[in-house]
Amino acid sequence: MIADSIRLIESELHGKATLIAVTKTKPVELLLEAYEAGCRQFGENKVQEMADKQPQLPTDVQWHLIGHLQTNKVKYIASFVAMIHSIDSLKLLQEVNKQAAKHNRVIDCLLQIYIADEETKFGLSADEAEALLQAPELNELPNVRIVGLMGLATNTDDESKIRGEFRGLKLLYDKLSQIQRPMIRFHELSMGMSGDYRIAVEEGSTLVRVGSAIFGSRN
Ligand SMILES: *Cc1c(COP(=O)(O)O)cnc(C)c1O
Repeated sequence: MIADSIRLIESELHGKATLIAVTKTKPVELLLEAYEAGCRQFGENKVQEMADKQPQLPTDVQWHLIGHLQTNKVKYIASFVAMIHSIDSLKLLQEVNKQAAKHNRVIDCLLQIYIADEETKFGLSADEAEALLQAPELNELPNVRIVGLMGLATNTDDESKIRGEFRGLKLLYDKLSQIQRPMIRFHELSMGMSGDYRIAVEEGSTLVRVGSAIFGSRN
């Protein structure tokens, strides 16, 4: 049952990390079930799906965009999205700022860092992330706040490999959080999914993004 799974996962987070229920491909009835069980943080990886579901859930839900985001789609979520986990360019950040300004909002953003040993995953390298955080152009973006980093570990059964990737991301997080600028306020490290959230929390995650362990596998 959804409520039991949420309670079990919450108990394993030991209050160190916040659970984001990843609801991609799942019908609104199941989201409402998670909401009834106390969940207020929901993650979707597609703009269209999130924009369709948002009006059907209570207004105190916090929506997290966790998938790749194209600049031309930011406008569909800018009025309500709580956090964007997948910032991978200055251009995207500039568009988020522009759309957030239209709604008089400041949108919390995470830089997605490439940590996996796989070709297909999006994200910035450590050097690219540092360059972005030092970019003079950030001074012109009053409607975004960069609050931390996000990463996806390699999809593998090798726990030590996953742990090493998360540990590296935490080290980068600690390093980059030293940068002092008004629009940078690091306090979130988004790492861990159904298969690896326990390891992620041990390595310093503050946000775990869990789908199938709550809702069952996706087809
Ligand atoms: C789908 C997805 C998740 C959740 O995956 P599960 O293995 O079902 O927990 C987490 N993060 C991102 C970026 C995703 O796309």
